[in-house]
Amino acid sequence: MQANVTSGALPLTIAIDGPAAGGKTTVGAMLAKRLGYLCLDTGIMYRAVTWQALNEGLAPEDEPAVTLLAESIEIDVKPASKDDGRAFDVLIDSEDHTWDIRLPEVNQNVSLVSSYLGVRRAMTLQQRKIAARGRIVMLGRDIGTVVLPDADLKIYLDASLEVRARRRFEEENQHGTTITYAEILTSLRRRDEIDSSRQHAPLKIAEDAVVINTDALTAAQVVDKIISLFPHPLSPIP
Ligand code: C5P
Repeated sequence: MQANVTSGALPLTIAIDGPAAGGKTTVGAMLAKRLGYLCLDTGIMYRAVTWQALNEGLAPEDEPAVTLLAESIEIDVKPASKDDGRAFDVLIDSEDHTWDIRLPEVNQNVSLVSSYLGVRRAMTLQQRKIAARGRIVMLGRDIGTVVLPDADLKIYLDASLEVRARRRFEEENQHGTTITYAEILTSLRRRDEIDSSRQHAPLKIAEDAVVINTDALTAAQVVDKIISLFPHPLSPIP
């Protein structure tokens, strides 16, 4: 597969897709920092809609109600205001819900909510507006295939289910949560299945994406690999 990088110019829009817990967030944030780009993790938008729906007492199965909510919700990402392990603040209607969107009940329902066409339309519209400014690393499931089909560089980050579950388990442990490795494995497998088989914008590898398997790589190595795809590679981190 071939990267679609314009010769002689840095890629202004970089799409990174891949399954849950594949390292997109860490790699995307490091890459964006290195380039001075904005990093938008679109997963937080679907998580925000899901959390807000549950918080308002909506049934996640109620597609019309959840879609209406997605069309009106205000989601914002700001620099981290607290030193508690967060990479950034996630604001929903101006309130900080950074950790709420990571709760197990959100994990359980987010794939259903993000399978709704109306929800996807509302989120895709916002994502394209942000990307139009350029200098962006956008992370998700359908960025290279649907949201930004003309992205300058498309990466698909893959890793085995077991490695992803192990990484997520270690992260959860650091936050003191009691979820087990087996529970994480089951939840990731279920989310992958729903995300890959849904009708609208399923998780799949864009034809012109470069696939990187991260099983045996650190985040810094993945970032270096991505940068090595640029026409004029940047110098390595000292
Ligand atoms: O990346 P993260 O695991 O936080 O994403 C949460 C969920 O949001 C995914 O399991 C998927 O259902 C949904 N999602 C999506 N399209 C995206 C990003 C995330 O459907 N572009």
